Amino acid sequence: MNLIFLGAPGAGKGTQAEIVCEKLGIPAISTGNMLREAVKNQTAAGLAAKEYMDRGDLVPDDVVVGILKDRIAMDDAKKGFILDGFPRTVPQAETLDAMGVQIDKVIEIYVPDEKICARLSGRRVCEGCGNSYHVDFKPTKVEGVCDACGAAVVQRIDDKPETVLSRLETYKEKTAPLKDFYAAKGKLVTVEGQEEISETAKLTMAAIEG
Ligand code: AMP
Repeated sequence: MNLIFLGAPGAGKGTQAEIVCEKLGIPAISTGNMLREAVKNQTAAGLAAKEYMDRGDLVPDDVVVGILKDRIAMDDAKKGFILDGFPRTVPQAETLDAMGVQIDKVIEIYVPDEKICARLSGRRVCEGCGNSYHVDFKPTKVEGVCDACGAAVVQRIDDKPETVLSRLETYKEKTAPLKDFYAAKGKLVTVEGQEEISETAKLTMAAIEG
């Protein structure tokens, strides 16, 4: 089962991917998490990506596609995967097609704009494993410490209010056209993402299984 989770920044793609990947026993592959890891480790890809990420712009395709190809080629991805944050543009989706990657379903998690800003301002991520939290909706058990791996949980630089608006613009302009791209292939299912995390997870599983 190869799935794509689509949605605005803060819609809950990462959180839902964490839940669904456990249920289905397939990895969640987040290009954002991999890029943040690359920035932290100061790899060539990380150095090339950092300035774009800090501004809330998309990282050039050659950098992202390279990282994604390597990850998809790993053994644990052979039985399927959830892509979270890739593709981000129609050309990236065409690249996936050209790579021969078959996509079974594209799940759009829809949250209206007015809820997105509150979601992003309270979002925190683990510096170690990349797990997502929210100060109100999904707090860590111990403040500032990841439940899963014990590393520090911090606010992303690009979740600061000044960057959020530009990321939403980028989503509308460059990523939202993917909805039509996948709807035309009969693969798009939209899930309501503004309720509780567990409720959205039920809807997401129903959309995958339906
Ligand atoms: P995310 O964690 O998905 O919100 O991604 C964080 C940042 O990483 C984005 O704002 C982009 O700068 C970069 N990024 C993640 N995925 C992609 C992608 N598929 N194409 C280009 N840039 C990406």
